[in-house]
Amino acid sequence: MEIIVLVKQVPNTTKIKIDPKKGTLIREGVESIVNPEDLNATEAALQLREKYGGTITAISMGPPQAKEALLEVLAMGVDLGILLTDSAFAGADTLATSYTLGKCIETIGKYDIIICGRQAIDGDTAQIGPQVAEFLGIPQITYVRKLEKKGKKIIAERTVEAGFEVIGSPLPVLITALGALNTPRYPSVNGIMDACVVHEDAIKVWNAADIGASAESIGLDGSATLVTKTFSPELKRAGMRLTGEPKEIVDQLIKELHSKNLI
Ligand SMILES: Cc1cc2nc3c(=O)[nH]c(=O)nc-3n(C[C@H](O)[C@H](O)[C@H](O)COP(=O)(O)OP(=O)(O)OC[C@H]3O[C@@H](n4cnc5c(N)ncnc54)[C@H](O)[C@@H]3O)c2cc1C
Repeated sequence: MEIIVLVKQVPNTTKIKIDPKKGTLIREGVESIVNPEDLNATEAALQLREKYGGTITAISMGPPQAKEALLEVLAMGVDLGILLTDSAFAGADTLATSYTLGKCIETIGKYDIIICGRQAIDGDTAQIGPQVAEFLGIPQITYVRKLEKKGKKIIAERTVEAGFEVIGSPLPVLITALGALNTPRYPSVNGIMDACVVHEDAIKVWNAADIGASAESIGLDGSATLVTKTFSPELKRAGMRLTGEPKEIVDQLIKELHSKNLI
């Protein structure tokens, strides 16, 4: 099986701040991590390879330091990494990002299944998976919490508001992985050593020309959206917690609402 995983390096968003003057993320000193659901995507790929053999290629688009994300998944057991990096990719919105990832996958050419995370914890749009599938003209199964291969088909359980759906698809197919899909393995010590020392060459670095991307479809020029303002939401006042017996709570609540002329 030829498996592709999409891996994004993201700032650890529990710790990021926005520069109040520039409206941009303060990245200095902020730890970068592999987007958590991309680790679930990687784990799913490793489990498929264990059962059916084949090769796993991880793709990451980002600045040169996104190589660290690829090294991390190589240490988990991924075979090959492709770092898509080029100043022409800067400023890409989800449309331009999906185009770039799609062109890279087209350049690879052979694939049975593409697995990505449902959503990146920084951009948070959940648009990349579906857009890449659309670009490639292949079926997609999103929000996947269970995945297996039966014969020539992929069978997936996808979470929906009212419960779950079971969907079958021929290959090739794109899957977006939920955290519930599996528990990502930790890289082994040997895996870390291999990734950092032996397999450094297992990461190819490609630019726009390498994937035949057209200049008007990448980066800022290829972006259909424009960010006009970025800001941190204002902190709301702390709520009030009422404690005691139910009757006491109701009395306190009525008093409080009266005092604010709300009743
Ligand atoms: C106008 C505009 C300008 C922007 N400029 C910049 C910029 O200059 N620099 C910048 O860093 N961001 C920029 N962004 C944000 C960038 O567009 C998004 O981070 C990117 O498109 C991915 O969207 P997302 O994070 O919502 O991914 P989602 O759709 O939530 O991610 C779903 C999954 O897709 C895969 N995926 C997503 N992104 C990548 C990636 N890069 N490589 C590999 N796999 C991926 C992962 O598996 C991920 O789990 C900009 C956005 C806009 C709208």
